Amino acid sequence: MTGREMDYIKEAFDSNWIAPLGPHVDAFEREMADYVGVSGALALSSGTAALHLALKLAGVERGDRVFCSDLTFAATVNPVFYEGAEPVFIDAEPESWNLSPLALERAFADAEREGRLPKAVVAADLYGQSADYGPIEALCDRYGVPLVEDAAEALGATYRGKKCGALGRWNVLSFNGNKIITTSGGGMLLSDDVEGLAKARFWATQARDKAPWYQHSEIGYNYRMSNLLAAVGRAQLGVIEDRVAARRAVFDRYVRELGELPGISFMPEASFGRHNRWLTVALVDQSRAGVSPLDLMGALEKENIESRPLWKPMHLQPVFEAYPFYSHDHEGDSAVSASLFDRGLCLPSGSSLSEPEQERIVQIIRSGFKGI
Ligand SMILES: *Cc1c(COP(=O)(O)O)cnc(C)c1O
Repeated sequence: MTGREMDYIKEAFDSNWIAPLGPHVDAFEREMADYVGVSGALALSSGTAALHLALKLAGVERGDRVFCSDLTFAATVNPVFYEGAEPVFIDAEPESWNLSPLALERAFADAEREGRLPKAVVAADLYGQSADYGPIEALCDRYGVPLVEDAAEALGATYRGKKCGALGRWNVLSFNGNKIITTSGGGMLLSDDVEGLAKARFWATQARDKAPWYQHSEIGYNYRMSNLLAAVGRAQLGVIEDRVAARRAVFDRYVRELGELPGISFMPEASFGRHNRWLTVALVDQSRAGVSPLDLMGALEKENIESRPLWKPMHLQPVFEAYPFYSHDHEGDSAVSASLFDRGLCLPSGSSLSEPEQERIVQIIRSGFKGI
């Protein structure tokens, strides 16, 4: 927290706006839309809710297909099933670790041949780095399929000068407790499609028709953000640039302190944008390092320090394994996502991580390399 949150919350209490709407919700939406550079925004109870509404706006229905990033958190994919549709998983590419335009191109070509184009493409911005939206958008345009940007991890990151959260037709942010800014729980749908946002607002507010009584012609959802949490979000948004700077400094220190160890490397920053370094991700090549990522995780765990493997790729998840997968590398059968998962470790990366704390982490990893 920044300290400003309580001022805004007090304002909400003093004005007695304790509802899932109110002046802080309106202001948070306006301020976020301005920051990201889109026409409008809809504050919601979670990023997952925003993804669900984006798929509804794309017209996803039972039996439809949706192309999704393979290397991501399951929340990118789950809403596909809420609408009774099926995912097709698209591998990562090595430059950004995000959705591979090569794999996407092959998936589109096959889908066209089968007469089963997807209703949407959902691309995630992994660990705070933008996907390569130039070629992705060109493919989506060629096939007339809308793009949804899952920028849940990427607030403050950019792609060729534009902000993450403004790169698809409908874009999603999350303010869950683990994200770069938080409302404890919350999310947002952002777009230049003002009519679409109005429709999503209607669905998110229990789909109440314009009538003097409670009348419903469609199924609705209770997905709005509370005015209290929007108050927290406004204070948090005020410090987003400081947060990005802090996370990037954490990343730079890890690279400086650990980069020389044998077999260790870090998630690259693609040439096309600014990474917000939400998480610092290291790759450990066990044959050269002599330790595995899980060994290092265990060594940190012993000191009560949490680190985590990368998101396990969606095509390897028991719940999703029946669905098609397109790998980046056409020739080989190895997936980029699986190879990153095998070698990767997410290190403690909080914006408030102090230098002495980080030094402790560094020392534990260093001694892990010497073999414990
Ligand atoms: C956190 C996250 C979500 C879900 O956001 P919630 O607000 O927790 O529902 C979706 N996609 C990705 C990539 C995420 O990291």
